[in-house]
Amino acid sequence: MKEEMKKIYVTQPSLPPLKEFVESLKEIWESMWLTNEGKFHKEFEKQLAEYLGVKYISLFANGTLALISALQVLRISGEVITTPYSFVATTHALWWNGIKPVFVDIEPDYCNLNHEKIEAAITSKTTAILPVHVYGNPCNVEKIQEIADIYGLKVIYDAAHAFGVEKNENSILNFGDLSILSFHATKTFNTIEGGAIICHDEKTKKRIDYLKNFGFANEITVVAPGINAKMNEVQAAYGLLQLKTFKDQIKSRQEITAIYRELLEGIDGISFLKDIEGIKHNYAYFPIFVDESKYHQSRDDLFFKLEKQNVYSRRYFYPLISEFPPYRGLPSAKPANLPVAEKIAKQVICLPIYPNLANETVVKIVDIIKNN
Ligand SMILES: *Cc1c(COP(=O)(O)O)cnc(C)c1O
Repeated sequence: MKEEMKKIYVTQPSLPPLKEFVESLKEIWESMWLTNEGKFHKEFEKQLAEYLGVKYISLFANGTLALISALQVLRISGEVITTPYSFVATTHALWWNGIKPVFVDIEPDYCNLNHEKIEAAITSKTTAILPVHVYGNPCNVEKIQEIADIYGLKVIYDAAHAFGVEKNENSILNFGDLSILSFHATKTFNTIEGGAIICHDEKTKKRIDYLKNFGFANEITVVAPGINAKMNEVQAAYGLLQLKTFKDQIKSRQEITAIYRELLEGIDGISFLKDIEGIKHNYAYFPIFVDESKYHQSRDDLFFKLEKQNVYSRRYFYPLISEFPPYRGLPSAKPANLPVAEKIAKQVICLPIYPNLANETVVKIVDIIKNN
């Protein structure tokens, strides 16, 4: 009997060695300091900033709260230009701030916000641009900054996918006014749940830290209607251990990416993304794009065929954010305004990728794709 493949999910979180984590927990138990700028929190911020090559980082309970807070930090209001091709939290963060999202189409090469379409969407109410480095591939940060400078707009990057990504040996997080990260269990770097805001000066870092702690500037001074979005000591201790193995994890991801690319090359109707010159990638995702007219099966046919054989791929990002009920009534959400995003959302499948994914499993997955 043919051996059935065990369930393969799109990702599998990497965990730190339990023994080392227990040692950290013992320290936390002894100190009885659980949250609010504890020892592990401070050390994690310090080591993360060094590791990523950024000046200032503030830890958060999760990426969504980091994004909601980032918009508050810069007092963003009115309208914000953003992409429909992302995880819903990108647009939800605008909604929670009472900001109107204005969707602009993506470019076909790497699925990021198309900088050539931004200017036409700017109105007197526009205050910022919120692009996403989708799959960890950098947006055109120079062009976006040029537009922001001309029109006096802020730029906040949703860099939830871009942990460790560099452009010409400079962290991608150093572009824009602020960037946010997510350390959710499904992301390349996880603290179970977690997130961060990256900024470039001490004053902004201070303001971020007030806002994530109810707006407290000191014991008796509240400077803003802040929120509770702090990361706790257990998450920070866990994150510190994750840093030790992250480089090896990226190396494994890179190797798996290379195997996928080699095996998928030449399959009619299946395309995938290539590395970009000057970019250090993190190989967070492995999206493929199904052209039904050449593959002779639809994306969904392939998606369900994989599922039948225990391969749980994901259709990131389908449906588009602009198609969900809270946003579909917006003028900018009309499909005619977003033709590239509409097309790609119907073609994409993210295949499983994580450091422990066995090479032979990759071969089996590609065999399912080939056998049509
Ligand atoms: C995961 C993700 C978020 C949300 O981060 P959480 O830590 O899960 O709150 C935001 N934006 C994008 C693009 C994401 O992928």
